[in-house]
Order: sequence, then C-alpha cells, then structure tokens
Amino acid sequence: MTAIEVYRLRRKPARVRIENYRKYVVLNITAIAGTLIHTGFIGLFTVIGADTLALFNILSVLVLAVSLWLNRAGMHAAAIYLMCLEIAGHAFLATATLGAAAGFHYYLWPVACVAVINPRMLPRQAAVIGFTLIALFAYLQLRYAALPYGFAYAEYLPLLLFFNVMAAALPLILAVVMVRQINESQERRLTEIANRDELTGLYNRRFGNDFLHQTFAASDRLARNYCIAMGDIDHFKAVNDRYGHEAGDQVLEDIAIALLGGFRRSDCLCRWGGEEFMIAFPDTTRETALAALERFRDRLASHYSRVDGERINVTMSFGLVSVRPGESVEAAIKRADHWLYEAKHQGRNRIVSDVHDTGADVLSHTG
Ligand code: GH3
Ligand code: MG
Ligand code: MG
Repeated sequence: MTAIEVYRLRRKPARVRIENYRKYVVLNITAIAGTLIHTGFIGLFTVIGADTLALFNILSVLVLAVSLWLNRAGMHAAAIYLMCLEIAGHAFLATATLGAAAGFHYYLWPVACVAVINPRMLPRQAAVIGFTLIALFAYLQLRYAALPYGFAYAEYLPLLLFFNVMAAALPLILAVVMVRQINESQERRLTEIANRDELTGLYNRRFGNDFLHQTFAASDRLARNYCIAMGDIDHFKAVNDRYGHEAGDQVLEDIAIALLGGFRRSDCLCRWGGEEFMIAFPDTTRETALAALERFRDRLASHYSRVDGERINVTMSFGLVSVRPGESVEAAIKRADHWLYEAKHQGRNRIVSDVHDTGADVLSHTG
C-alpha cells in the first residue's frame, strides 16, 4: 500500500456504510435461511397431514422472498417488519395446530430480538413490541403445552422441537453478534476521530502527548533509546500570503502524506500545531532518527505541491533530541523546540540535534 493510500484510508475510513452492510448481511442470511426452512416445512406439513399449515407455508415463502427483495433494494426496515410479521404469524398458527411440543413458538424470541434492535423504532416502542412477542410466547407455551398431537409421525416430535430451537437461535445469535460488531466499529471510529487531526489525518497533539507519556515510561524502564523531533515548515506564512489559505492547507496535506511515507509505522507522526509537527521515535537511536529525518528533509526540498497549476515548494526545519534517562516529556519537548529554533536561526531547511551524552556537541545537517 502506498503512503497516499495509507493516508486516505486513515483520513477517510470507509466505515460510513458498514453498519448498513452488516444489517444487510444479517437480514439476508435470516431471510435466505427462513425461505429454505419454510420450503422444507411445506413438504413436512404435507407429509404429516397438516394441510392448512402447508398452504400457509407457501404464503410464508412468498412473504420471505418479498422481504429478501426489500432488503436487497435497501429497504431494511420494511424487510425487518415483514419478516417479523410472517414469523410471528407462522409461530402462532403452527403452535396452535401442532401444540407447544413442536417448538414453533420459539421463533418468537429471535423476532422479538430483531424487532427491538431495529434503530428506526423508538426504544420504548421497541420494548413494548419485544415484550408483547415474548408474552405471546408464554401464552402459547401455557395454552398449547398439553394440546394432544393429532398428526402422523408423532415419534419425530422431539426432533422437530430440537430443530426449531436451533433454527430460532440462528438469527438471535446473529443479531447479537451484529450489535456487538457495530458497537465495536463505532467505538473505533470515535477513538479515531478523537485522536486524529482533521485536516491532515495525522495524530493530533492530545494523542501525541498521551503517546509520549505512555511510551516514555516503558522506554526509561527498559533503558531503550528514544528520540523526539519537532518540525516546522519554513516561511509558511509566505505560502498563505502568496497562494491563499486553501493552497496552504493543500501543502499541509501533502506534507502529511510525505511524512506517512517517510517514517516507520512504529514512529508517531503528529500535527503539533498549525504548521508544526512532532515525530516520536520509540526504540530508536539518534543516528537512525537523524538519518530518517535527513532523507525526509531532502525529499521534501525537491518536492512540489500542485495547486491550481502552481508548483509550491516548501522546506522544513527540525530540532531532534535523544531523550535523557529520567527526562520528562515536557523537558524533552522543550529541548527539541530549542533545537528547532536553532535550526531556524541557522538558516532553515536543516536538522539540528543535540548529543546528550557529551552534552556539548551540536550536530547540524543541511541540504
Ligand atoms: P518560519 O520559517 O519562521 O517558521 O516562518 P513561518 O512563516 O512558517 O512562521 P510563522 O509562525 O510566522 O507563520 C506560520 C503560519 O502558518 C501562519 C499561519 O497562518 C499558518 N498556518 C497555521 N496553521 C495553518 C493551517 O491550518 N492552514 C494554513 N493554510 N495555514 C496555517
Ligand atoms: Mg513555520
Ligand atoms: Mg510555527
């Protein structure tokens, strides 16, 4: 995957339609399974001599086929209502005819569940419908528990009960799994929104700060190398002044893409402020971080953003520090800021870095 694809994926996650897609899949599976089961029931009811039920099943198959079509056409709510209505009617009629021992009233449980999770319905309305369906289940259980089975193949009744209970569990389990997946994906999406900068898709300052605090402690404990760079676009005000604010935004987005393509996945790339970026390099020596920044700075210096036919070139300056043992996040950032200022002072388009083990040397890299 290229940096641009990674960037676009991160910036605009295509999750908008996922909830609907899951709903579509669950309803589709339920409707297809329902249609197949009902088709089988036509034969079963004919064999045992329950002709009314067999005829009703032909109607059921048609109704389920319509709800399958409604679902495919995107009318999920209508598909749900129709499916629920059919299954509830079927459960009632079959239980009243064959008795509760056949287990057809168990289909009321998934119907109640599917009706309740339908977001088009108000929660109170959904709860009333759910309880009504379960009350119907209880009524059928009590009313038809002792109904003598008056059809052929009575010895297979326990098998039919087993089948019905299992088939009823299918949409129930699927619906709960669907709700869980939707919750998880929404949670991920909210976390993503909270952690990312809207314009560039990079991590925002809050996330960057949290990241630094979390990774600093572990790094210090394990005596690992850790580097932080603060970067700032050179003369960016001039870009805005000359080409306009929108062009400036475009340049910021292009730089974010370049950053995403230029560093390791384990490095934390963050838009720290307007045209200022923070890069955290966990588990990285100063030499490695410097080499990566140098490659990036070099590439950026020969890169152009294209806005309305204009070619805009910007450079960046960086301050890089290798974190000292026991150093606080704030102190390390302050030092990186100091070296960034020094890079600007020395003429921009360069990386200035301390060498903390001697505390004296200052390295400056320019193009
Ligand atoms: P230096 O090389 O010293 O950093 O010069 P500079 O012009 O980049 O620095 P200065 O701090 O004077 O100006 C920063 C500019 O960045 C000013 C501000 O309008 C611009 N800027 C900050 N955030 C955004 C943004 O989100 N979009 C755009 N288009 N411009 C922004
Ligand atoms: Mg600047
Ligand atoms: Mg600045």
